[in-house]
Amino acid sequence: MEGNVLITAEEIERRVKELAEEISRDYQDKEPLLVCVLKGGVIFLADLVRHLTIPVNMDFMAVSSYGQSTVTSGQVRILKDLDTSIEGRHVLLVEDIVDTGLTLSYLCDILLARDPASLKVCTLLDKAARRRVKVPVDYVGFEVPNVFLVGYGLDYRERYRELPYIARLEAEPEEE
Ligand code: 5GP
Repeated sequence: MEGNVLITAEEIERRVKELAEEISRDYQDKEPLLVCVLKGGVIFLADLVRHLTIPVNMDFMAVSSYGQSTVTSGQVRILKDLDTSIEGRHVLLVEDIVDTGLTLSYLCDILLARDPASLKVCTLLDKAARRRVKVPVDYVGFEVPNVFLVGYGLDYRERYRELPYIARLEAEPEEE
């Protein structure tokens, strides 16, 4: 995988630190609830929070959009819901990657229906060219091309999440 590195560990670290500084400024005195989408977002969240200079809370959600396939079905299932109420809270959704936007759009609808004080989205990676639905993304780490990426939380069939960098999958998966 090392020959296909798109974003190095050093580049990720630098950018995550910048995003954390921005978020710390924007949420000064707000103690936001960071909602992480499992499993892909967990490495990003873990690095991000350690660079924040404000107090935050964290909660986790798991959804499935692809199953074993690599193409979006447009169908999203909640596998694990939040433990806490978000009513009146400043919620920041932390995502690994926004592709078509279908998953995010569905998640935002669910969260907004629960009356948070505010809802913003932070994604490490943005495949903006693939967007099919309009979704607001407030913080973006990197804009990436339309190739299948793995590493730093992103998997292909549950593998490669542990890689410290982001790489293009060697053999592009067939659309299923
Ligand atoms: P969307 O609903 O925006 O099309 O899909 C978002 C989800 O698709 C992400 O949370 C992620 O699970 C998956 N995804 C989209 N592009 C990639 C990619 O390049 N690599 C991996 N590993 N997952 C991706």
